Amino acid sequence: MTWKQQLQENITTAAQLREYRPLSAEEERQLDNILAKYPMRVTRYYLSLVDWEHYEEDPIYRLCVPTISENDLSGSFDTSGEGSNTKLPGLQHKYRETVLVLTTHECAMYCRHCFRKRLVGLDEQKETAIDPQAAADYIASHPEVNNVLLSGGDSFLLSNDAIRYYLELLAPIPHLDFIRFGTRTPVTFPSRITEDTELIDILRRYNQQKQIFVITHFNHPNEITEQSREAVRLLREAGIVVRNQTVLLRGINDDPQILANLLRRLVSIGAVPYYIFQCRPVTGVGTQFQVPLLEGWRIVESARGKVDGQAKSFRFAMSHPTGKMELIGPVPDSKRGKDPDNRSEIEKSSATRMIFKYNQAKDPKDLGRIFIRDLDERQAWL
Ligand code: SF4
Repeated sequence: MTWKQQLQENITTAAQLREYRPLSAEEERQLDNILAKYPMRVTRYYLSLVDWEHYEEDPIYRLCVPTISENDLSGSFDTSGEGSNTKLPGLQHKYRETVLVLTTHECAMYCRHCFRKRLVGLDEQKETAIDPQAAADYIASHPEVNNVLLSGGDSFLLSNDAIRYYLELLAPIPHLDFIRFGTRTPVTFPSRITEDTELIDILRRYNQQKQIFVITHFNHPNEITEQSREAVRLLREAGIVVRNQTVLLRGINDDPQILANLLRRLVSIGAVPYYIFQCRPVTGVGTQFQVPLLEGWRIVESARGKVDGQAKSFRFAMSHPTGKMELIGPVPDSKRGKDPDNRSEIEKSSATRMIFKYNQAKDPKDLGRIFIRDLDERQAWL
């Protein structure tokens, strides 16, 4: 079976979910209601990782099957200002050196926490109507751009011909230092990589000309399997650098031990952790998955304390409209303030002063800038 044929076996309906777990008529109605807005698509491989006896608490299940909290309308569909950074249909230019191309609206699986919920898997596609030649022309005419991220959706859901075409256009651009592919296929659909030797051959060939990175997205240690390890191994064997981004998610990895296990195992398979992201207040996502910033910082720091230097080389950051802000840590003794005589007043406040630093900035003047904000214990975004 080709990978495209394998994807036809994905489960996409409430009725298909009944093959795995009992579903009352009411649950099926609620699920259908959600699927009318946000599609479900789960590979059989990913479903095989669910502990079906305890599916309701299972992190893999919660990452792939909708719950009614997706009906919550709070939040926004564009939490990092993607619309304002769009220069051509499907092409965003927010940070001076980086261009982001939304190459497709398809993914092997539609993750419930996706921050591009506004577009993944939906029929109407304005944002991914990208012409690869137009994208390459834009990049060629912007010498300040030194890297491009091919994302989506999932860039490995493009056909091999489309991937080859992008590389053929982009690899010769002299001021590009590297090309990144954003893909969750090592996590959700490793056979896309392990069973398609042509894909690896294409990547190996163009990697001779321009360094290729694969940025993938493991969120839980249970996602690291023999198959996913093999997918990462094949990429690395072809000379591709593999890095991982994780999102801190309530009920999935908001536990220092689970996060530490994930970080350690990522290093062991060669997918070195590079960012842990604060979950964004995306409509249909934030209510279910967001962890408040202070609590999140404590979890991440506690996990960091349990791992070696390689596994702790990531940053914990928020991808905000103004840039990627790293959470450095609270101002020491911040609840007490500087004036000991004023202590009783300040101690009444539940706010903690958090130090942030711009690791990437939309306005170059902000790059590296450190700033402090008061955070209360429930606050999950700035
Ligand atoms: S693979 Fe990425 S883009 Fe696709 S649904 Fe998951 S998080 Fe979103």
